Amino acid sequence: MTELNYACLKCGKCCFNLSFSSADYIKRIPLYPEEVDKLIEIAKKRQIPLKVKEDLVFPDILNKKILVLTYRFILDENGYCIFYDPKIGCTIHEIKPFACQAYPLAIKRIDAFNLEITIDSICNWVEEHHIKLKNIDLNKIKIIFSESFKKAEAFLRQNKKLQLHIRRMEVENKIKIARQISSEDFNRALKNWKRDEIRVS
Ligand code: SF4
Ligand code: SF4
Repeated sequence: MTELNYACLKCGKCCFNLSFSSADYIKRIPLYPEEVDKLIEIAKKRQIPLKVKEDLVFPDILNKKILVLTYRFILDENGYCIFYDPKIGCTIHEIKPFACQAYPLAIKRIDAFNLEITIDSICNWVEEHHIKLKNIDLNKIKIIFSESFKKAEAFLRQNKKLQLHIRRMEVENKIKIARQISSEDFNRALKNWKRDEIRVS
């Protein structure tokens, strides 16, 4: 079982839009504001259009602001990430976002403040080995996906840092996140309130 070793097939499936149910043409991976800054710079240099969309946001009712924690890619007209090249794959391999580095491992939200490392079933390699990967524990995930696991741990640490930062801001009464808000009020806030990106580095 543990002789199984993840090796990317370089098929590009994870750089393509797979959220068929979504009206928006967005990539599921989260991007931190700091990552978006870097990606904007690269896109500018290469003269390619980078578009992102807000992803994880919280309404701060103290300052009447929307706190933006992460963004998502808006894909090109063919449904691919704009940094994907069919001949060579990811063209920003060395500096790709945390979520792409960790893939096919992903961070799953258990509740508002708890996350865990999981395997993304959309990956072609994972799909090929899904029987062997079914119900495996974290120790085996660590062995099979050794490199991705290190990246996923870094990704998880970054997420935790972000959560701690938000908690600290709440304790210091700098912000107040509305945890129970009607969808009407939330949509109204999304429409009218200014944005504040949350950055931890
Ligand atoms: S940044 Fe690279 S790995 Fe991530 S979705 Fe885009 S092309 Fe794929
Ligand atoms: S879907 Fe899986 S195997 Fe294919 S390129 Fe992405 S990570 Fe590699």
